[in-house]
Amino acid sequence: LIELRDVNKHFGQLHVLQDINLTVGRGEVVVVIGPSGSGKSTLCRAINRLETIESGQITIDGRPLPEEGKLLAKLRADVGMVFQSFNLFAHKTVLANVSLAQIKVRGRKKEEAERRSRELLDRVGLADQADKFPAQLSGGQQQRVAIARALAMNPKALLFDEPTSALDPEMINEVLEVMQQLARDGMTMVVVTHEMGFARSAANRVVFMSDGRIIEDRTPEDFFTNPESDRAKDFLSKIL
Ligand code: ATP
Ligand code: MG
Repeated sequence: LIELRDVNKHFGQLHVLQDINLTVGRGEVVVVIGPSGSGKSTLCRAINRLETIESGQITIDGRPLPEEGKLLAKLRADVGMVFQSFNLFAHKTVLANVSLAQIKVRGRKKEEAERRSRELLDRVGLADQADKFPAQLSGGQQQRVAIARALAMNPKALLFDEPTSALDPEMINEVLEVMQQLARDGMTMVVVTHEMGFARSAANRVVFMSDGRIIEDRTPEDFFTNPESDRAKDFLSKIL
């Protein structure tokens, strides 16, 4: 479904993505881990074309990423992204936040979009919060709204960039549970996270990045019990 071939990118002198090859099949959950600055966010952003690449190819369902305009908005609906910082519209209600792109990008009628929004808010446990504004919700609730908003587009895949890193500890689990359920339901997901419990229980593969390269790409059992590279061993010894 998602395929990266020999992808390279620099920020100035910094070679932030180096010969990246990665395939994410339909229904697969790939967890991306690695030290700060290793290129995890840039990788996610490149798949969504929030960053351009210099060489190599990224395809979704065999098709290269669109360059601009309406097709780009459609790409970002097909491959939704959930950020550390929620990115909700502060002056719109929860219901409007989840409905807006359905109307603008998917061309749904308002009533239809709102019906779907309420369904999804129910699914993430927020049926009773539809008329509130983001600031009236906890961080965990806001992140679940962001997930509902991405799901509302009927995406082919979802990218998560440290979705629980900005949350107070007691709110992390409510977000991880929603993500676990999505994984069980067969959603294709790329998840950058430091939540190793999630990686162990939900991931089909763990991708370990360091200095812009993919160093390991293996099953969670393999990776956690038997990391091959010194860099992965070192990283695991610091976080586990
Ligand atoms: P973290 O765990 O801290 O989120 P990361 O693995 O997501 O790190 P990236 O955000 O992808 O890392 O950044 C990789 C490197 O590229 C870092 O050294 C960062 O400073 C640099 N970088 C990221 N975005 C830009 C930018 N827009 N311009 C210049 N350098 C950038
Ligand atoms: Mg990052």
